[in-house]
Amino acid sequence: MAEIVIASGKGGVGKSTLSSSLSVLLSEKKIAIVDADAEAPNLHLIFNVNSWEKEIEYREKSIAKIDYSGCIQCFLCQEVCTYEAISKENNFPKIKEFLCEGCGACKVICPRQVISIKKNNLSGWIKIGKTKYGPFVSSELDVGQPNSGKLVTEEKNIARSWLKDGLVKNIIVDSAAGIGCQVIASMSGASHAILIAEPTKSSLSDLKRAFYLAEHFRIKSYIVVNKYNLNENFHEIDDFARQNDLEIIGRIPYDKNVAKSMVQRKTLIEFSPESEASKAIKEIANIVETFMD
Ligand code: SF4
Ligand code: SF4
Repeated sequence: MAEIVIASGKGGVGKSTLSSSLSVLLSEKKIAIVDADAEAPNLHLIFNVNSWEKEIEYREKSIAKIDYSGCIQCFLCQEVCTYEAISKENNFPKIKEFLCEGCGACKVICPRQVISIKKNNLSGWIKIGKTKYGPFVSSELDVGQPNSGKLVTEEKNIARSWLKDGLVKNIIVDSAAGIGCQVIASMSGASHAILIAEPTKSSLSDLKRAFYLAEHFRIKSYIVVNKYNLNENFHEIDDFARQNDLEIIGRIPYDKNVAKSMVQRKTLIEFSPESEASKAIKEIANIVETFMD
């Protein structure tokens, strides 16, 4: 089996276009598709998934709760809270839920034992659905909730359970941008990383960060250069690949069909299978297929 993560270190460089089109082209390999960008999920739009088979509420953060009936207004809890998550209101301590980290220091110090640490309100949702090309798991963080790697880990656990049950044989993970905890969770346990970049200095610098993260997890990385023809004199991605013994498995040209396909809520490969970008992605799919069972 292969668990292939598409990452970039930066948003807007073509990750979802590549992930969705690879999912279409490699669907015969029995794939599960994971949209691992809980802050800005978008694969359900590209795959035109309008309903979910299952939506699971996800609660991650623990916060302090006070039972005021026993509070003696000593404010030791406020003193001990290094996160400044306890204010004074009407002469009683008040937990600022947004700041509380659930560390439990206030619970320990409270002389009346009236503070408990509880799982808070909703953090987000895990959503399970179907595309024409394989089972699909996505997620969505609730407004104001912190960036959550755990949510992505839960998504991947669901996809891995499909693998275990023989429903799928391979997993494609479209990771979030950057190298934050969602991307760390996306990479953790993956077999291959496809790192996509545009031919600019800033995109290369983001690609490097993604590569070093993949290296940390000992994941074999490959590079795809998107919109390569917009800056053909930029050779630094090639230099970086050479220096780090990385294979560039594809170069996708700039293609107006990419934007048009998104407007139509279709994968590029479905919208314009013979476009120049689609042709380049087909060649990439031929290589990625060799990673899979
Ligand atoms: S649980 Fe920790 S962060 Fe939250 S209010 Fe208590 S001391 Fe502060
Ligand atoms: S430490 Fe306990 S008793 Fe003292 S103010 Fe806080 S909640 Fe009330």
